Amino acid sequence: MSKVLVVGAGGVSSVCVHKMAMSSDIFPEIHLASRTKSKCDSIAAAVKDRTGVEVATHEIDAEEVPAMVNLIKKVEASLVVNLALPYQDLPIMDACLEVGAHYLDTANYEPKDEAKFEYKWQWAYHDRFKDAGLMALLGSGFDPGVTSVFTMWLKKHKLKTIRQLDILDCNGGDHGQAFATNFNPEINIREVTAPARHWENGEWVETPAMQVSSPFDFEAVGTRQAYLMYHEELESLAKFNPEIERARFWMTFGDEYIKHLTVLQNVGMTGIEPILYQGKQIIPLQFLAAVLPKPETLGETTKGNTNIGVIATGEALDGSGEKTFYINNICSHEAAYEETGNQAVSYTTGVPAMIGAAMMVQGVWSGEGVFNMEEMDPDPFMAMLGEQGLPWQVKELDGPVDF
Ligand code: NDP
Repeated sequence: MSKVLVVGAGGVSSVCVHKMAMSSDIFPEIHLASRTKSKCDSIAAAVKDRTGVEVATHEIDAEEVPAMVNLIKKVEASLVVNLALPYQDLPIMDACLEVGAHYLDTANYEPKDEAKFEYKWQWAYHDRFKDAGLMALLGSGFDPGVTSVFTMWLKKHKLKTIRQLDILDCNGGDHGQAFATNFNPEINIREVTAPARHWENGEWVETPAMQVSSPFDFEAVGTRQAYLMYHEELESLAKFNPEIERARFWMTFGDEYIKHLTVLQNVGMTGIEPILYQGKQIIPLQFLAAVLPKPETLGETTKGNTNIGVIATGEALDGSGEKTFYINNICSHEAAYEETGNQAVSYTTGVPAMIGAAMMVQGVWSGEGVFNMEEMDPDPFMAMLGEQGLPWQVKELDGPVDF
């Protein structure tokens, strides 16, 4: 497994391809394909500048399965790293199956006409990947991705069981814009405006979007308001840790972000139903995404840190009773930009995508079928995280969060 094909040419892809090029012993041949080839060429030029490594570029509509099949065959990729949008997950998985290539992504499939993140569509591919002797690794970003690995590391080294889990995602960076999203605006706004859901006593509890919140003091950022949200790793964490009584996901948002989003929602700009505009069907959210700043352009102006981690409470492995541990990473926007030309939200996603790919091409993580991060040994991934720019820390807390 040595030739990789990365699909998508946004901020996450740019970081991932930079980091692959910096590890050319693991990734000796890198291909990059996306819908707009000029974006691939810009990334390839930046990578060449920073590392001296050549990246081959291609144009592809990843939703066209026959075209994807031809491209994977042409470049002889043994692994396809999908860093396009969640809508392309299934067609890319279909193409991988047809050619016999392994698959990795960072976000689970969602249908275009419904903002619903669920693993069921991709889990349904398990037998086909298994029968083909291929591996698909789902959600190798930060959240999902590192948050799942953090949780399983705690379960391997600190806790026998997990009773309560809170994932806390804080982007304390300031990009200097009135309103912008740090990753794809369409996917980000669909996620944030969907109802909140958390796992409690064996079932999903739904609350209206952005209604439940609490302040939390994030190291290297300060106190920020964190909002209860649904996030896709809750589904796999609950599946692979059936003892969990409550699992929740919290993300911080500033007052300006909430103010703009509320207005945009109130006037219908975040809708995903097509409307007729000057004789043409348009989707308001896609139009909004087209006018918002592109995430990959925010790198230069974004200052501050991200702080993302997991607080887990459960029975200690050493038999000392119930314990709570907090494991997290702090990432500097400025340092991420200096190293790869991208801000920390792209960096914290692109680095784990590269590490997941490294685990697969080196055969450190292997399997036949469709897998979530929770099913893999966390240790080699955690070791590489620190080496690759995302150091983590773990500390014991007095008890679980009090909200
Ligand atoms: P961007 O919008 O910046 O980039 C997406 C890229 O995919 C663009 O280059 C786009 O091309 C390309 N693309 C879209 N449709 C197609 C298609 N049909 N065929 C080929 N290429 C296509 O997104 P980001 O880089 O911010 O995010 C990338 C992915 O990472 C998303 O799926 C996002 O959900 C995920 N993510 C995961 C996180 C995690 O922690 N797990 C966190 C953040 C993001 P074009 O330029 O022509 O539009």
